[in-house]
Amino acid sequence: VFHPYALTLLLLLFPPPAKYGGRHTVTLIPGDGIGPELLTHVRELFRFCCVPVDFEIVSIDSKSTSDDDMNNAITAIRRNGVALKGNIETNHNLPPSHISRNNILRTSLDLYANVIHCQTLPGVRTRHRDVDIIIIRENTEGEYSSLEHENVPGVVECLKIITRKKSLRIAEYAFNAARQNGRRRVTAVHKANIMKLGDGLFLQCCKEVAAGYPEITFDSMIVDNTTMQLVSKPQQFDVMVMPNLYGSVISNVCAGLVGGPGLVPGANYGKDYAVFETATRNTGKSIANKNIANPTATLLASCLMLDHLRLHGYASMIRKAILATVSETRLHTADLGGQGTTSEVVQSVMREIESKGPRTSEQI
Ligand code: ATP
Repeated sequence: VFHPYALTLLLLLFPPPAKYGGRHTVTLIPGDGIGPELLTHVRELFRFCCVPVDFEIVSIDSKSTSDDDMNNAITAIRRNGVALKGNIETNHNLPPSHISRNNILRTSLDLYANVIHCQTLPGVRTRHRDVDIIIIRENTEGEYSSLEHENVPGVVECLKIITRKKSLRIAEYAFNAARQNGRRRVTAVHKANIMKLGDGLFLQCCKEVAAGYPEITFDSMIVDNTTMQLVSKPQQFDVMVMPNLYGSVISNVCAGLVGGPGLVPGANYGKDYAVFETATRNTGKSIANKNIANPTATLLASCLMLDHLRLHGYASMIRKAILATVSETRLHTADLGGQGTTSEVVQSVMREIESKGPRTSEQI
């Protein structure tokens, strides 16, 4: 049986993050849209629970064309090892040389594995029941290379980079995650029938790694069929591994299957650093500062972060309170068909925690 903490077993392999005087310092990047509002609720909740985490807040002005803010954020994450972030808006009207700051952050820190766990939640009405899928997405190359040119007017070349080294690395991560979590099957998602060399190499690397995990069944599925299978019979999937862009599409489909962007947290892991955010990386500009965004995904991302810091007691206490709140239909926010507000959800999480009474440091 999968347990949410099981993913974090993997993290024991990582070097311990910075810790000063029994407290951890984490970089907090508010981002745009609903990010600042939701991360303020995380800070409020952590204060309420006396979580031993101090945040170093690094704001990024997405309208500025200077790199200074980004460099500060990256330096801060290098120093602290861990970050919690909102999504930074990408201005599509800037020249093509302007690369998404979210993407720069992931590649600069070599956060190669994006991990999201989409699981049916009690109390959330969805078309399909019993969805329980771990998606592992290569996060640093593929279609996100930002290498595009128009040498001949009207002819654009947009490079998708697939390397053996990074494909083996993400495949190894996926099979290891499957093993650590007691999962039985890993499905590689690809389009090797068309991109025979690029996706062919990715698929080949997955096959090679699979050979070292005889207890785990390996199979593969073409990306277009995968989306159809997901919306018709999602229960057939267990762990999925894929290149960058398919990862974005499949993550969004799966998040939609279990209730939407407001519910699912996401993690980006590298050898040295970890950054936590919502699974579908939305900005939610049109619902910002209205007290209507669903805070669940961001709050659960903060729990993944606490697990990464090995503050498992705090993570468990907060996660249980969040899931208890989500199971209360009357508190659902508009995205789940209800009329609850962001702050009502957060207050309910606090009440849940309070109702369990004071805990000793051993219990935490
Ligand atoms: P906008 O929200 O400004 O329309 P967008 O079209 O780029 O921006 P995203 O930010 O990608 O949309 O978000 C996709 C959809 O998911 C939007 O309708 C957004 O309102 C919704 N959404 C994202 N996050 C949440 C959340 N936490 N709670 C409720 N709805 C959310």
